[in-house]
Amino acid sequence: MKISQSQLEQVAVREDQYPPEDLREIAFAGRSNVGKSSLLNLLTGRKKLAHVSGSPGKTRTINFYRVNDAFRIVDLPGYGYAKVSRSISESWGKMMEHYLENRDNLITVIQLVDIRHAPSAQDKTMHDYLKAYGLDGIVVATKADKISRNQLNKQIRLIRQTLQLDPEDLVLPVSALKRTGADELLDVMEQLLEE
Ligand code: GDP
Repeated sequence: MKISQSQLEQVAVREDQYPPEDLREIAFAGRSNVGKSSLLNLLTGRKKLAHVSGSPGKTRTINFYRVNDAFRIVDLPGYGYAKVSRSISESWGKMMEHYLENRDNLITVIQLVDIRHAPSAQDKTMHDYLKAYGLDGIVVATKADKISRNQLNKQIRLIRQTLQLDPEDLVLPVSALKRTGADELLDVMEQLLEE
């Protein structure tokens, strides 16, 4: 699949701001600063579709991007940024849960983790949550340019073990910097959309 057209369709904090459930959605979740905006820009071939942040933790909205007039990419708010107040992080959690639990046209949530580290406790919580809702199955390991080829398989094994992935679950390494991994991920997304 190639993304030939993408645009921000809606920014939401509440359900009444979500776009209609007329197109299927693939959402992206991950810790703040994991490289989610950079990946979305790589996938869509746009430099500034999603805002790459110098200061993590800024995005507090659910952003709906309309893609090829055929489906939506949904950018979920990054979790785990230490400097936000408890009340803000609670409202984020509620907003995210509300979307994940109630959205009938949501196919799956692609979870991003940093390839350099074992997934954090919050990554694990997020994964367990997605699994409970049947929204798991694809993990993207970001910033793959930061490790050597030798380390790659070791880190992928570590991610698999820490998140307790099933053998059929995918872990796809990507680098927004080196522009690698996007085609593989787009192919996986295409298959999901065809199912
Ligand atoms: P977000 O908070 O998850 O949306 O993350 P961003 O896309 O804003 O990226 C956070 C930081 O990581 C920025 O400084 C990016 O330049 C950097 N970054 C993102 N992707 C990559 C990558 O593939 N490789 C490297 N080396 N840095 C990256």
